[in-house]
Amino acid sequence: MSFTIQQALIPVENGYTTADVQIVGERLVAIAPKLEIIGTVVSGENKLLLPGFVNAHTHSSEIWQRGALRPFPLELWLAELYEFPPLQPEQIYLSALVTATETLLSGGTSIVDHLVLIPGKEIESITQAIRAYKEIGIRVFMAPLIYDELLDAGLPSGNIRVENSARELPTAETLALILEAVNKFHNPQECVSVLVAPTGIQLCSDKLFEGCIELSDRYNLCRHSHLLETKAQQLIAQEKYGCSAVEHLKNIGYLSQRTSLAHCVWLSERDINILAETGATVVHNPLSNLRLGSGIAPIIKYLKAGVNVSFACDGASSNDSQDLLEAIKIGSLLHNVTTFDYRDWISPRQAVEMASLGGAKGLNLENEIGSLTVGKKADIVLYDLTNLSLLPRTDPIGLLVRGRPTNVVDSVWVNGERIVADGKPTRINIDELRRELWERSQVTGERPISNAVRELEAHYRRVMGLNV
Ligand SMILES: [Zn+2]
Repeated sequence: MSFTIQQALIPVENGYTTADVQIVGERLVAIAPKLEIIGTVVSGENKLLLPGFVNAHTHSSEIWQRGALRPFPLELWLAELYEFPPLQPEQIYLSALVTATETLLSGGTSIVDHLVLIPGKEIESITQAIRAYKEIGIRVFMAPLIYDELLDAGLPSGNIRVENSARELPTAETLALILEAVNKFHNPQECVSVLVAPTGIQLCSDKLFEGCIELSDRYNLCRHSHLLETKAQQLIAQEKYGCSAVEHLKNIGYLSQRTSLAHCVWLSERDINILAETGATVVHNPLSNLRLGSGIAPIIKYLKAGVNVSFACDGASSNDSQDLLEAIKIGSLLHNVTTFDYRDWISPRQAVEMASLGGAKGLNLENEIGSLTVGKKADIVLYDLTNLSLLPRTDPIGLLVRGRPTNVVDSVWVNGERIVADGKPTRINIDELRRELWERSQVTGERPISNAVRELEAHYRRVMGLNV
């Protein structure tokens, strides 16, 4: 398939120009003011063309609880989330479709799904999510969420004796599951990559991290984890290792240019230097950090230290949407209050580059996607500049990032294939998807707090120094 986008607005240094863009197969082959037409013609008139963004960390199945969880910090929020009955495989498929749709319609072309697996149906969970992503056509980085310690390990003990209610989960079986997923699904050529994704130091043993490093090296897989999202996790690292989580992950060899780390809120200056040295990527999830009161990640410090940073929505229960443009807006403006030196503030163009090229770097794909560069894959998005929310015409990228763009995505191509046209995904029926979600859900009030959550809350308040 070949096509030519005619006369689209594209950003150039300090401004914009109008250009034709030729795509042959999956790649951009020419960008110039005037080109001969090859293949189908797509009008770029009154439209802005940008590289697609990466939604660099989400948990698709959280769609089913979005809007429903009370204002709790992460540890209690998680306990409440686990109180919901396990999902059915078909629900995983549907929530992946929703996550992909909202990502595409807010400028994303790639998604990192740190997928929560249904216990006992792990491979089926992965199968259903990948089925959805292949169907809609988005580029997917499947990161099955694994851990081998019990959930109560996710809280610092605070020197309070906690009864460990059961044995640890089998590490070898967990790793075998990832190997099976790699053998079944890892196929970057067809836009499906599998990542090793131990959830984080709070619930994973060194044996699990080491097994993941081994798989990552053997199959050239990227690595993805949560890192120091909360103050509690900082305390856990000290209790568990006697050093910071970042120092420990460096010591065991987990940090690399193929490693992306979600959140990174509670890092020291020394930790930041380690990230810069190892080339690991920070994935910024501003909305979930605000929603769960986790803190403000020191993004400006990361950028100044030369650490690569990308943006993400995080799961829909801690956001509670999958709107990348919203995450980019909040995730860049938020940091203006962290330094008076306005020269360090994140500009709209810088934010767009972090969301696209930064996302690509975090997945070790900076030579393949993430910018409008001849030779790269056509993962690109056309925005409608005649949309009311992008008018009047001023600086389109400035307004796209700092405004409140609504239904502005006209078309999306992934790997050279048009998967959104006229603001709608071309390969799935959105009305049917809406009907499925409507029929499988109901309006509920606030759920009562369970005894299990209450007990955990008492412990949490004690170790965090809050009034019990
Ligand atoms: Zn997460």
